[in-house]
Amino acid sequence: MATEQTLSMIKPDAVARNLLGRVTARTEGIGLQVVAARMLRMDRTRAEQFYAVHQQRSFFEELVKFMASGPILAQVLEGDEAIQRYRELMGATFPCDAEEGTLRGDFREHKDVDPLYNIVHGSDSLENARVEIEFFFSPAEIHSRSD
Ligand code: UDP
Ligand code: MG
Repeated sequence: MATEQTLSMIKPDAVARNLLGRVTARTEGIGLQVVAARMLRMDRTRAEQFYAVHQQRSFFEELVKFMASGPILAQVLEGDEAIQRYRELMGATFPCDAEEGTLRGDFREHKDVDPLYNIVHGSDSLENARVEIEFFFSPAEIHSRSD
């Protein structure tokens, strides 16, 4: 299995609901290690840059507003097949579709919650993980265990 790094964001809804520790414990529970972390608040411009791929989507405006609405915890997670395994731990994009045992399933507030408020972000490919990690962290801030 390949050791990978992926970019996680614990989103403003989860930070506001005091879920930082519980979400991170679940991440560590599947054997991924936090090798970089920073709590920060994105401004509109930064959020627009991060989600530029979604620029044409109907939810773009709401997404940017939400992601700039409060602090997030950005983390680099490292481990075997980290990208795919973190996506599996996150669960489906729409919390109403997310299964039990996933972060988006287990931590959703109620079944019909707006898909914006889905607790976490995780990179979806090796290339996007590289770009997204660089968006938040310099190499010196990443404390890889696999060096
Ligand atoms: N999103 C939304 N409505 C949608 C699809 C997505 O509000 O119909 C939000 C949601 O917060 C999601 C983010 O936009 O996490 C990025 O969407 P993407 O399709 O990349 O989902 P993800 O990769 O986060 O599962
Ligand atoms: Mg995505």
